[in-house]
Amino acid sequence: MTLLSVEGLGIAFGGIKAVHDVSFRVEPGEIVSVIGPNGAGKTTLFNMISGVYQPGAGRVLLEGEDVTGMAPFRLAQRGMSRTFQNLQIFQNMTVLENAIAGFHLQERGTVLADLFNLPSSRRRARQAEAGARELLARVGLERAADREAASLSYGSLKRLEIARALAMRPRVLLLDEPAAGCNAVETEEIDHLIAEVAASGVAILLVEHDMKMVMRISNHIVVLDHGEKIAEGAPAEVSRNPAVIAAYLGTE
Ligand code: ATP
Repeated sequence: MTLLSVEGLGIAFGGIKAVHDVSFRVEPGEIVSVIGPNGAGKTTLFNMISGVYQPGAGRVLLEGEDVTGMAPFRLAQRGMSRTFQNLQIFQNMTVLENAIAGFHLQERGTVLADLFNLPSSRRRARQAEAGARELLARVGLERAADREAASLSYGSLKRLEIARALAMRPRVLLLDEPAAGCNAVETEEIDHLIAEVAASGVAILLVEHDMKMVMRISNHIVVLDHGEKIAEGAPAEVSRNPAVIAAYLGTE
């Protein structure tokens, strides 16, 4: 079954259509990228899918279930998690503590009750720590577990953020510019990590400006311009599409 279906999504700000009638699907294990010139509506689309904005039109289906406009933490509990363009790392906590935070974010709503149930809460804390260490190993940060997050390189912070999103055990992972600000080596590490996560069956939706990376790792690309989908298809197909070339040349 299709993991994520976006059907006719749209939203307007002050009467101006920021996104209009955008539809596409993401299947398990697939990497789908949304590209387009600045202001095309990529972030707005992401925000509607992940429940940050209420769409003005259309639907978001998660394994066939309508989750349109559902709060981000509820979506996370149902298997959709995301990262943000700007790092959301707690800089003065350790790497391990940041990864552990991912597990607790998933449990929002049960945390207060657990304060009155110490034994179960200790057990959970141990489980979260074990899970966090496993995730850090998966993203190549196991040796940095006890370091302060602020001391990590930018590329490592980006991987830590992906680790934290993975703590929610997502079936759909939305990545907002995972390679932004990274150098070539860091970008390649993030490439591998994303490919590995996809290979484990997670559906990945990506917004990314690094076109080389997008062309390398995507199975499918959706192109937005002025809020509308102007093309979609395999990387080779999209990159020679005249409407796509015109959209990029027209704004640069
Ligand atoms: P970039 O590549 O620069 O990040 P983008 O493709 O992500 O751009 P969006 O940030 O989604 O584009 O913006 C799409 C359009 O919607 C722009 O014209 C923007 O000014 C407008 N817009 C986005 N968010 C809001 C908002 N909260 N209020 C008003 N207008 C908005």
